[in-house]
Amino acid sequence: MSIQHHLNNDLLMAYAVGELPEALNLVIATHVSLCDECRARLESYDALGGAVVEHGYAAVADGSLDACLARISGLGQEQPRKAMSRQTKSVFPAPLMDYVGGGLETVKWRPIGMGAKQVILRTADTDASVRLLYIPGGAAMPDHGHNGLELTLVLQGAFRDEGQRFARGDIEVADASVEHTPVAEEGSVCICLAATQGKLKFNSLLPRLAQPFLRI
Ligand code: ZN
Ligand code: ZN
Repeated sequence: MSIQHHLNNDLLMAYAVGELPEALNLVIATHVSLCDECRARLESYDALGGAVVEHGYAAVADGSLDACLARISGLGQEQPRKAMSRQTKSVFPAPLMDYVGGGLETVKWRPIGMGAKQVILRTADTDASVRLLYIPGGAAMPDHGHNGLELTLVLQGAFRDEGQRFARGDIEVADASVEHTPVAEEGSVCICLAATQGKLKFNSLLPRLAQPFLRI
């Protein structure tokens, strides 16, 4: 069981070194653009990676990660990072806007049952996918399990899952041990960006029928 509101260190480091599929990268980049805490940690990993490249592994390899980060603060200058949109009026932060090709009004939703809708975003991945989910207030997302990691980022509204509340900017990290039915909060539509590794295991018929067409 693994549910968190932020990205854990393993995920952030894997992202920093470019080990993750594009689908997961998109959700992480979008969360980082909304989250000061994860952005600060990511910047420290990037600084560490840069120090390894610039000064060699041996120069930074001794001791704990914290000790490494403390040591590299004296080694040269950090690479300037591309400015990220910390606050945005749009439902879609900048990293996501590039994939959608516009704002919320441009999304071509497909129904997946119970008033819920989704659209798959195009990536080069073969074993991972990323999609936007539109869940009416009070409705449940399709009941499902996972064959791998799933990252769900709230863009609008909020949902509750396993006794926790997730609102804009919050990310839910679920792994293969989780089977769940997140429920959108009453009152407003919940829009999420969700990436999955492997195929989801849907329990109801309609999403299962749609799976081959939607490559979920
Ligand atoms: Zn975060
Ligand atoms: Zn899930």
